[in-house]
Amino acid sequence: MSLDLSKRVRPALVGFEPYDPAFTPCEVNLSANENTHELPVAVREAINAALVSTPLNRYPDPLSNELRDVLAERHGVQRSSVMVGNGGDEILFNLFFAFGGAGRTLVTCPPDFSEYANFATMCEMPVKRVWRNADDFSLDVDALVEASKDAAMVVVTSPNNPTGDLVDHAVIRRLLDETDALVLVDEAYVEFAPDGSSVIDWVAENPRLMVLRTLSKAFALAGLRCGYLVADPSIIDELSAIRQIYSVDVLAQATAVAAVKAREELRPVVSDIKAERERLSLRLGNITSLHQWPSEANFILVRIPHASQVRQRLRDEFSILVRDFSYAPGLADCLRITVGTREENDRLVEALTSLEKEEA
Ligand code: PMP
Repeated sequence: MSLDLSKRVRPALVGFEPYDPAFTPCEVNLSANENTHELPVAVREAINAALVSTPLNRYPDPLSNELRDVLAERHGVQRSSVMVGNGGDEILFNLFFAFGGAGRTLVTCPPDFSEYANFATMCEMPVKRVWRNADDFSLDVDALVEASKDAAMVVVTSPNNPTGDLVDHAVIRRLLDETDALVLVDEAYVEFAPDGSSVIDWVAENPRLMVLRTLSKAFALAGLRCGYLVADPSIIDELSAIRQIYSVDVLAQATAVAAVKAREELRPVVSDIKAERERLSLRLGNITSLHQWPSEANFILVRIPHASQVRQRLRDEFSILVRDFSYAPGLADCLRITVGTREENDRLVEALTSLEKEEA
């Protein structure tokens, strides 16, 4: 007889299931918004050298000071304004753990990154959802500001996952000026957006503004698990006090330091992904049954008849994996396609074209 935990588990956690990225090994994996390009040799070599000279018998620096210094230098801030974590995910969780709890609401704008609501719920933080427009996914700005007035925290995602659009800076300005909430801007994908899209420079003047970044996307280090937050030193201090002390291990710290120092070498990769996004979008435009939304990120959201079936056939007949969102509220028949290399994108378009021909 198996153990019945239903009355033992913390009530807020009942019903949660392990995260399932619906991964199947495929030749072309465009399902998780990773950077599918090879790391430039110079970056790979810098990382290799850093790893070789990292002792494993000692505990990590719990405050990741060297890494925070390198990140602080990247953004022209002080170390005291930077926090690192085991992926952006850990930082999100810690933010809700620290500033959430019963009676302290989080405002989200779905469809967005589903972990906001999941982590907040685990932290017993009520979630108020201000749904985006069903057709173009634009934000209902007045409703968002109104909902945030008595909230503890509001999160906006720029560019948003999975819709790909940026948040207008005026919206963030209004959230800061017209509410008393902590304002979290998730910029996990901002390197793929035009220069000037980030609000990281606003943090110094706006102590309630927090900006989340990750090395999982532009830096091509999703497997490393390293994300960071730029925020007021008081927020960083609070998070430092409650975090898992060694969640960013010695190998992750050494790799991240090397990669962030070598960031100029990654520019051509990011430029190529942006160019590929435009080329992919043009080619997808030739598939008449497919609707797509403009994206400033490294993925494109599309709507296509029988999306789940299309996703399955891409996987089983063409060994191409994309993410099915058709089950998610507001995303009926939607697939999210990560922008890959030129060869990967071409393979995808050819597969979709041949599926469409069959339908005709
Ligand atoms: N924010 C957004 C919008 C994301 O899409 C993701 C990853 N899918 C994250 C944060 C977290 O990324 P990571 O934990 O890999 O840093």
